[in-house]
Amino acid sequence: MSNKQQFVRFDKVDKSYDGKILVVKDLNLDIAEGEFITMLGPSGSGKTTCLMMLAGFETPTNGEIFLDSNPISNIPPHKRGIGMVFQNYALFPHMTVYENLAFPLKVRKVSKEEINKKVDKALSMVSLSGFEKRMPNQLSGGQQQRVAVARALVFDPQVVLMDEPLGALDKNLRESMQYEIKHIHESIGVTVVYVTHDQGEALTMSNRIAVFNDGKVQQLSSPDKLYEEPVNSFVAEFIGENNTFSGEVADMSKEKCKVKLNSGIEIIANPIKVKSKGDKTIVSLRPERAIIDPENQMDNKHKGKIEEVIYHGDHTRVRLDLLGNKEFILKVPNSSARMDIKVGNEINIGWNSHDARALDPK
Ligand code: ADP
Repeated sequence: MSNKQQFVRFDKVDKSYDGKILVVKDLNLDIAEGEFITMLGPSGSGKTTCLMMLAGFETPTNGEIFLDSNPISNIPPHKRGIGMVFQNYALFPHMTVYENLAFPLKVRKVSKEEINKKVDKALSMVSLSGFEKRMPNQLSGGQQQRVAVARALVFDPQVVLMDEPLGALDKNLRESMQYEIKHIHESIGVTVVYVTHDQGEALTMSNRIAVFNDGKVQQLSSPDKLYEEPVNSFVAEFIGENNTFSGEVADMSKEKCKVKLNSGIEIIANPIKVKSKGDKTIVSLRPERAIIDPENQMDNKHKGKIEEVIYHGDHTRVRLDLLGNKEFILKVPNSSARMDIKVGNEINIGWNSHDARALDPK
């Protein structure tokens, strides 16, 4: 029976290439039908290996992968019904755009008439109708990647895998392609598993993001949760900007903890990954959660000295020396430009303890 919540399922999957080191460790991951899920993480964290196992080019050392409830270890790649867009999986250079798109359909013995229909539809989806006769070298980089996306979708696959598909494109094109792929996904609802090391790309495109480090999923969440509620120091550091304070838990209740910083000063934090008094911790606070001239009810209020001021168009980035952290970043919206934001000035800074997450020390 089809299970929509576990359309793709990694069940206790390990992978070792050399029989010694596990580059993927006990991976348990369910992907829902129609979901856009991104595997995000630094280079070497095991993302591509996971995608290769799902595609069928690598075999799990332990565990099993299921597609629509069926184990797929013994099914060869071309019979898995999976479309692929890989950076190194380029278009066939000696074939026209039409022939490139027709290829996966011919392999599947689709009739000529049906091929024409499907190629038309796929090209219009990526806004390249009329480009059928072009050769790949007559297309720009962005157009080539759009043809590659169309080729991955043309045979109505159950799942599409994309591994850094925009890696070779310049920044502007890359961003517009992110929206384009996102909109294609929204309009056809195919399940997409996407790999990138670019957090902005992952946040823009995904329904959920699996953050990888060292062969393990550190957190699996929607983009907003990942940013607002990182579960450990790795995720807090890897996603977005992050102010940190190291210290030790001095007092503990259910919703709050007191953290004694190395400087001796105490701050109030939200106990996420600490259990008891004496635990070492790194407290993580997003720059936009700290404000100048704190409101009365804020339970953290401290003085900081301005070390650097950088104008960024929509906001000003202020670097402070605050509680022993000389790299404390504050983002001040430029709609509230202030006269007192000058290097050397002291200002009052505050934040709510709820936003200061006491996480694991690294
Ligand atoms: P990512 O996609 O996150 O950059 P990979 O899955 O490519 O990570 O790699 C994970 C680890 O496995 C790395 O240490 C890498 O060197 C190793 N690795 C990847 N592919 C192979 C391979 N074919 N043979 C041996 N080691 C590999």
